[in-house]
Amino acid sequence: MEDFFNSVERFVKEQITPHINDWDEAGEFPKSLYRTAGELGLLGLGYPEELGGFECSLADRLKLSNLICKAGSGGLLAGLFSHNIGLPPLINHGSEALVQSIAPAVLRGELISALAITEPTGGSDVANLKTRADLVQVEGQPHYRINGEKVFITSGVRADWLTVAVRTGEPGAKGISVIMVPGNSKGLTRTPLKKMGWWMSDTAALHFQDVLVPASNLVGVENKGFRIVMENFNTERLMLSGASVGFARVCFEEALDWAQNRQTFGKRLMDHQVIAHKLADMRMRIRATEAWFDDTLARIDRGDISDQLIADICLLKNMATQTMQHCAGEAVQILGGMGFMRGTKSERIYRETKVMSIGGGAEEIMKELAIRQLKW
Ligand SMILES: Cc1cc2nc3c(=O)[nH]c(=O)nc-3n(C[C@H](O)[C@H](O)[C@H](O)COP(=O)(O)OP(=O)(O)OC[C@H]3O[C@@H](n4cnc5c(N)ncnc54)[C@H](O)[C@@H]3O)c2cc1C
Repeated sequence: MEDFFNSVERFVKEQITPHINDWDEAGEFPKSLYRTAGELGLLGLGYPEELGGFECSLADRLKLSNLICKAGSGGLLAGLFSHNIGLPPLINHGSEALVQSIAPAVLRGELISALAITEPTGGSDVANLKTRADLVQVEGQPHYRINGEKVFITSGVRADWLTVAVRTGEPGAKGISVIMVPGNSKGLTRTPLKKMGWWMSDTAALHFQDVLVPASNLVGVENKGFRIVMENFNTERLMLSGASVGFARVCFEEALDWAQNRQTFGKRLMDHQVIAHKLADMRMRIRATEAWFDDTLARIDRGDISDQLIADICLLKNMATQTMQHCAGEAVQILGGMGFMRGTKSERIYRETKVMSIGGGAEEIMKELAIRQLKW
């Protein structure tokens, strides 16, 4: 494993970091990066060997994500690894034939996978989603005909496969299903969206007009999709928490380096107590969040699947994103005017903080969910 992580570190240093600013300005990273990452085994980490992945602990997956964080771009992480939210529902609940026809190619970096849950009428209230899928016969074969809209979908334009949550039944959580939809389906329109941060990540609005997919593209059982969507969120929230601490650390390191080298009023910035205290506070929040994070991983390793654990994952996401926000804000302040300039890691991460406390379950919703799990 050590060799693997060394090669990832080299890959990030040589093939990602030097291009990060250009890719962000261009609003995309090269599609060829999926293949390179696939060949290196980055995309398959944590996935079953029979699908071309290699199984490892959650801690190792997070270590990988931290190494990618060092390049200082959440947009890259979100885009290159969008399969980490798109594939698990399929792998955990899809038919063998469906899994085999999609997952190995995604893990090799030949195909791109995305998850489409959020709709223009709301993302937090998943149980009320409106995109409809109706069972119809086409040339004697059962198909789903999909109509509706999705929004803010990461890798939405690029995706070869979209894992889509749809309404197949009654209103509410009991009428939701998950269906695999090819990105090039007739009747599917994909529009790129401009945003505050994550510039290099493809974020799209999707419009489904009478999109037909074979009924065999259903993932799991019809109308039982809500659970699949929720189960996926736990891992996503952990990964977002891990990345948030990773980015907090990047900001801290950039600010520390700056403070140790910049001179004002005849001494290093670091030697002004106000600045040194800012750095101490940043380290304090990072260390506290890391400790909570490690504790959560240890509980998962011990097989804890309690409601308390789910509640703590929700609150950990809030803690981690607040740590990232604090550290990005302070790092920009310590860098002064340079922190406001495009090209520093802290400037980019500062623009990316908000999406971390909105995506994958917004801060307010995390508290609501935690309170419900704790049965207060
Ligand atoms: C860059 C980016 C990438 C994304 N990628 C994906 C993706 O790949 N796939 C996908 O499906 N989605 C994706 N999302 C969507 C994201 O998950 C949603 O934005 C998020 O879940 C919030 O949904 P919403 O934007 O509709 O806000 P809403 O649900 O409308 O909520 C708006 C605000 O009100 C608050 N709020 C809502 N209900 C309550 C309540 N009951 N009590 C208190 N406060 C409440 C929320 O916390 C939020 O702050 C992405 C979003 C962004 C910005």
